[in-house]
Amino acid sequence: MRILAVDDDLKSLKLMEAIFAPQNYKLVTALNGESALALLRGGEVDLVLLDVMMPGLSGLDVLREIRRDRKLGATPVVLITGLEDRKDRLAGLLAGADDYVLKPFDREELLARIGAQVKLVTLRKRLVAELTRSNQDLERFALIAAHDLRAPLQNISGFAALLADDFAGKVGPEVEKHISVIIKSAERMRALIDALLAYSRFGLPGRPFSPVDCAEACDAAIFNLGAVIAAGAAAVKHGPLPVVSGDKDLLVQLFQNLIGNGVKYHGKNPPKVSVGAERRGGEWVFSVKDNGIGIPPEQHERIFDMFTRLHNWDEYPGTGIGLAACRRIVELHGGRIWAESDPGKGSVFYFSLPAGQEAALRG
Ligand code: ADP
Repeated sequence: MRILAVDDDLKSLKLMEAIFAPQNYKLVTALNGESALALLRGGEVDLVLLDVMMPGLSGLDVLREIRRDRKLGATPVVLITGLEDRKDRLAGLLAGADDYVLKPFDREELLARIGAQVKLVTLRKRLVAELTRSNQDLERFALIAAHDLRAPLQNISGFAALLADDFAGKVGPEVEKHISVIIKSAERMRALIDALLAYSRFGLPGRPFSPVDCAEACDAAIFNLGAVIAAGAAAVKHGPLPVVSGDKDLLVQLFQNLIGNGVKYHGKNPPKVSVGAERRGGEWVFSVKDNGIGIPPEQHERIFDMFTRLHNWDEYPGTGIGLAACRRIVELHGGRIWAESDPGKGSVFYFSLPAGQEAALRG
């Protein structure tokens, strides 16, 4: 268990070292917020003991920075405050500190509070490991199942197509109808398997995030949807979009699913889809707006569940996996996704992504 103690007072750090030395903890120390963040970003720290009052970056600044960071965000932070610093203590707890200890230290109390956090860290590590393993098992299962289903499906659709060709005009309309049902069902199953395969691949260890120009990602999605957009005579445009930290392929997929739905679920009028983004506090909120059939309010949450479809295949083909995939991609990026819509009035799908240093909007 690695504990990072951050305090501008060397004496206080020495005292902590003396208190923790007999315990089974490895203590690393930093004399200011900047070097604390560098240490945190550079390696494995399980828990942070953070002085609130420091020159330069204050403890609260460091805490906020930790909570904003995708990788470090869940690291437990215990504040060190003076008895009289009630305001800072409260601000710290509201900003996401897990606990606090008072200065001057009461050795027993410090150890007890740190011990409680260590128990939580250990438990969380175990749960995360278990969850990761069972997710990987499930994903591997889905991947293998979907992969192995492809070959027999290929046979079904291949032979059904042969039957349709060989017996065209010879077997009567009834049999021809049955064969066409087989072909359509196989097509539908292939779409489902492909979507499932794509979905289960999201969970595989991905590339590290890098700056992604969302205008470029959105353009790529529009390009990929070229045939669908042309077939539906749809007008698709986007306004200025920011650069965010993420996985470009996944963000292209996200735009593609949302824009594709905007085009697909159109009413009588030709589809119009517009994509935009605006800065709200520490995040970017993206919107994908269409003029389509809309969604009843009671379905706004359900539609993000796997396999939920509000229409049958003949009306609007689909798998019910697209929005579940969108939610997964957004959550992998540390954001949220939701819809605002009413039947007949079009839909707006919103998703948020954390804003990084790259705050510029690109057209
Ligand atoms: P799919 O489109 O493959 O059915 P999705 O997960 O993308 O699956 O969407 C789930 C359901 O949500 C769709 O079946 C449809 O009923 C509804 N939906 C999604 N996007 C829209 C939209 N832009 N307008 C109206 N309904 C939508």
